[in-house]
Order: sequence, then C-alpha cells, then structure tokens
Amino acid sequence: MDSIYTLLEIPPMAAIQLFSLFFLAGPHFNPLKKDHGDPLGQERHAGDLGNIVAGPDGIAVVSIMDTQIPLSGQHSILGRAVVVHADPDDLGRGGHELSKTTGNAGARIGCGIIGLQSSV
Ligand SMILES: [Zn+2]
Repeated sequence: MDSIYTLLEIPPMAAIQLFSLFFLAGPHFNPLKKDHGDPLGQERHAGDLGNIVAGPDGIAVVSIMDTQIPLSGQHSILGRAVVVHADPDDLGRGGHELSKTTGNAGARIGCGIIGLQSSV
C-alpha cells in the first residue's frame, strides 16, 4: 500500500482531541507559499514528505530527515499534525486539478501530532 504523509496547519492544540484533529487538520504546512511537490525538489510545501510503503500487514516503518521541517524556530513543526493519505501522492506532477495543492493523494486515513518525548 502506497501512502503519503504530510504535515498540515492546525489550530492551537489545547482544545483539540486526536479524534477531531483528523477532521480539523488544515492544508499542507506551507510557510513559503509554494505549490505542492516532490520532497526532493525546490517547489514543494515544507510539509510534503513524499510517499511511504506499508507491508502486507499495513505497517510502515519510516524515518525521514528533511531540512524544511525544523523542531524549533519560526517554522517549527512541533504541535502540527502528520497525516497519512490513502492514495499515492503524484508529487505535483499528475496533471490532476488537485496535483498542485494535495498531490491528489486521496482520503485521510491516519494522523498524529508531532511532539517531543523526554528521555525516561
Ligand atoms: Zn503539499
């Protein structure tokens, strides 16, 4: 199963429960006001992290390093949502009306909140 996960703009987290986050998460995190694209390209939303592949059990193990999603500073992603979509992301090249905004990646099928965990 190919899926994409993307960082999205979300309202302040204090009053949001994870269930509602799934429905309230906003558009792709895009502080530089660019078109949707390939995480390896210059024209992309900061939150465009590309496609991931899950095994037959539906589990995907992913490790991503990216220079546009810092954990501190003006464009910090702490407190933002990470969302998995149902369909492959066309990385802005699909020619679909949604290619330049969402990659035509389909429905949201999973989400979480980005945070830091203190060491135990
Ligand atoms: Zn995007």
